[in-house]
Amino acid sequence: MTKEHPLDPNPKSGWQPKIVFLDRDGTINEEVNYLYKPEDLVILPGVPEALRELKKAGYLLILITNQAGIARGYYTEEDCIRLNLVLDTELKRAGAGLNAVYYCPHHPEHGIGKYKLHCHCRKPETGLLLQAEADLMSCRIPSGDMLYQSRCILSEAEQKALSEWNRSPEGPDFTNCFMIGDKLGDILAGRRFGVRSILVGTGYGEKEQRAAAAGSYDYYADTLKEAAKWIIRQQSIR
Ligand SMILES: [Mg+2]
Repeated sequence: MTKEHPLDPNPKSGWQPKIVFLDRDGTINEEVNYLYKPEDLVILPGVPEALRELKKAGYLLILITNQAGIARGYYTEEDCIRLNLVLDTELKRAGAGLNAVYYCPHHPEHGIGKYKLHCHCRKPETGLLLQAEADLMSCRIPSGDMLYQSRCILSEAEQKALSEWNRSPEGPDFTNCFMIGDKLGDILAGRRFGVRSILVGTGYGEKEQRAAAAGSYDYYADTLKEAAKWIIRQQSIR
């Protein structure tokens, strides 16, 4: 019996997306504690070029970011959305615009009010990646100039069903999907979702690599540029 996709519309099996999921802070821009002010945003050297190469090779670029500063009350969701827009505008200028951003505004212990939550979207959980997948399959991400930004709105049951579908023979072929981040939590989220994951040496990456157990990531790259090169090389050797 074929397993039906749990969400509407029901996509055909054999879906082969080309996506690079990217962490934001420490991966795209300089790590700044609880970044939300546009004037504190510094894009890391070589990042626009790396993203442009990935776009040229046909990859969608999707940002997956934990924003516990919202939970802690340091800044609002609107501040986060605004900062992401500034980042995207800068990247677009370099021909490296993003396709979508997914953010988690929760924290299980330090959150205030509705943001104090043991959620399923804060990396290393996979809710944000599943939401991106669901949105791509149902064509909810516009291809125009407007940056699509969202939290995870799938229910826990929908996330579970989608994860199961991903692991079934009818599920997508994630050979050409990757996650890049500077923390082992990013890597774990990518791996749990089912994609190869690259630890990048910027931000916390160098420190994280020293602490990492053997085999906990698929590739280590000093910079995003090197990570992009590795990804592009993978398609030519397969
Ligand atoms: Mg990071």
